[in-house]
Amino acid sequence: MSTVTGPELAKYQRVVVDMDTCIGCGACISVCPYNALELNENGKARLIWDFCKDDFECIPVCPVNCIWKSSEAPAESKAKNEWYRLTRQLTPEEQKIFEEWKQKYGITGNPISA
Ligand code: SF4
Ligand code: SF4
Repeated sequence: MSTVTGPELAKYQRVVVDMDTCIGCGACISVCPYNALELNENGKARLIWDFCKDDFECIPVCPVNCIWKSSEAPAESKAKNEWYRLTRQLTPEEQKIFEEWKQKYGITGNPISA
């Protein structure tokens, strides 16, 4: 797998997925080179936060345009909960990076727990 750890976590802006718009086609999951997307229990795409490495191949393949760079995502989508998850308990240093990422991109929604 492709877990990103430590200071490298601060390098990526990642993507926002709007699960309410997602039709569960799986296209984004197929093209992601880092296994950073999965289908959740309801068949909707979900981001794996600590796997994403910003190549953005997932964005153009989405037929309903519900994936954006974090810097370009609608506030309404960023405010939703549980469209992303972390694979593990973060270290205190990593937790700080996570909080700074939320702040920087205006992500007010929370992930599902690891
Ligand atoms: S930006 Fe790249 S690494 Fe991140 S979820 Fe999309 S395809 Fe995967
Ligand atoms: S490509 Fe779009 S519609 Fe298809 S699973 Fe991914 S987010 Fe959902």
